[in-house]
Amino acid sequence: MKRALVLGVLVTVGAVTLRIAGAQTAPQAPLPAIQKVKDNLYVIMGSDATDRSKFTGGNVGVFVTDAGVVLVDTKLANYGQGILDQVKTVTDKPVVTIINTHTHGDHTGSNDFFPAAVDIVAHENTKTNMAKMDAFKGDKARFLPKRTYSDRLTLGAGKDRIDLYHFGAGHTSGDTFVVYTALRTLQTGDMFAWYDAPFLDPANGGSGVAFPNTLAKAIAGIKDIDTVIPGHSPVAQPAQLQEFQRYNAALVAEVRGAVQAGKTVEEATTAATAMTAKFAGYKTDRVKAAVQVIFDELKKQ
Ligand SMILES: [Zn+2]
Repeated sequence: MKRALVLGVLVTVGAVTLRIAGAQTAPQAPLPAIQKVKDNLYVIMGSDATDRSKFTGGNVGVFVTDAGVVLVDTKLANYGQGILDQVKTVTDKPVVTIINTHTHGDHTGSNDFFPAAVDIVAHENTKTNMAKMDAFKGDKARFLPKRTYSDRLTLGAGKDRIDLYHFGAGHTSGDTFVVYTALRTLQTGDMFAWYDAPFLDPANGGSGVAFPNTLAKAIAGIKDIDTVIPGHSPVAQPAQLQEFQRYNAALVAEVRGAVQAGKTVEEATTAATAMTAKFAGYKTDRVKAAVQVIFDELKKQ
């Protein structure tokens, strides 16, 4: 009893110390150097998502247009200066627009570093989801999206054109697919984050059952792409996105089969893990959590 009390006090003190340090000092993990994707498009990678000590958040797209720099996502909190330092190595232009692919703190965390005049754009459901986060309450509400859309939005023109698409629920309820049209490049956010089961966030309107259908709509609806920037992995090809869609369709089919056969979620997880391992290069670390979400969704239907 006494020991538990002492431990509780220590943990609390530790948490307070951590919070103060987080607010005042730069984060521990350095950002990887900005890398060129094509012409005026760059990416600041998110480091290793499996090693939390090196994790800096999602990939950031850096698009240098005539009007200024467009950032797609802003990593975890406290990475604004690091992002800006990397941007300055490729252009003197200011950041004028931020696009948030979805609500999560590893994609919206450093919005608040940038001047309040910066245009912030996201899907309408993402704005709703972000408004529920402590990071965007009170004074910080000015770093919420200023411009939203429902199905599709075009920003800029010619070589600077960006098309934003939303195809329905998946990772969250407000995922945006960002297309750098002239460069034939698609940035997916976490609708294609890594080679493993997706992280599904039903609390923010995500759906494991809808996920493969939403991805199929994106693949069918976005033409003329030859390069893909995933949410948390190195630059990829359309074939890898297509394989990820087929994987997610197989994952839902596996769980649906288990539910229909009256199997438990543990049995469904075992079967889905074996299925996942058949996809070359795929990890199985996130299968259990994804199966649980899909299983629960199917049980409710
Ligand atoms: Zn996410």
